Amino acid sequence: MINIDLTGRRALVTGASSGLGRAIAVNLASCGAKVGVNYLKDQVAAQAVVTQIQQAGGQAIALQADVSQPEAVEALFAEVDRAFGGLDIMVNNAGMDGARENCAESQPDHWESVIRVDLLGPYYCTRQALKRMQPQQRGVILQVTSVHEFIPWAGYSAYTSAKAALSMFTKSVAQEVAMQGIRVLAIAPGAIQTPINASVWGNPDSLRDLDQKIAMNRLGEPDEIGRVAAFLVSDLASYITGTTLAVDGGMLIYPDFSHGG
Ligand code: NAD
Repeated sequence: MINIDLTGRRALVTGASSGLGRAIAVNLASCGAKVGVNYLKDQVAAQAVVTQIQQAGGQAIALQADVSQPEAVEALFAEVDRAFGGLDIMVNNAGMDGARENCAESQPDHWESVIRVDLLGPYYCTRQALKRMQPQQRGVILQVTSVHEFIPWAGYSAYTSAKAALSMFTKSVAQEVAMQGIRVLAIAPGAIQTPINASVWGNPDSLRDLDQKIAMNRLGEPDEIGRVAAFLVSDLASYITGTTLAVDGGMLIYPDFSHGG
């Protein structure tokens, strides 16, 4: 039998008080990892994730930090060092899609804030994670990108640009550290039911429209990302680096072409 075994691995998941981050943190812990549950503002929600993990027999701590601020990221890693004595798994999950604004009407500060969280945040965290992983010649960095690293999305050019750039960042850094026992890769979720898209699945018309963009004709569950993330950061995926795995129910296979054409 094949088991995902992360016993003794020290993990940090950003934006882990909700949605995909929460599911990833819980799945990693259920495979034996000690998990740092990073959150931005909602301490109560982060503590609930920690409690859920502990009640299932796992280990976790809640760690506040704004990943878009390099000083805050440095302080976050100092806390990780104190709590875990190092890091083996970094999951850059924190993200935002921002307001829908076409380019000509967009506000530069809105655009920049998406880039700061979705691209600079993973850069700051990857940089700090590598400083811990290189001396031990072991580690995995998993970026949570999106199908929008591939699919354009009108009104969300900051988001799509950040995710596409994060993908190329992932490949470049993977090249840098492939010979050092460190894997750097990405998971690209499709439409997964979380708070980020609540306004879409909360409305029957927009949900129907979204379902039609997915070959399986349904949204994904956070655990469907969490389970794959646990596999990707485990030694079972030891030969996978510098690539993105889409977990999207077939969003990238042009479902519109399943008829006509
Ligand atoms: P979510 O809104 O529940 O989670 C995003 C998390 O990031 C929140 O907990 C939020 O507090 C945190 N965050 C935001 N800014 C932060 C900052 N500056 N510092 C620290 N944390 C911060 O939504 P989600 O769907 O779970 O999104 C998680 C990731 O998955 C994001 O990167 C998102 O782009 C990506 N994603 C989601 C979907 C989807 O359909 N849900 C699809 C593709 C990609």
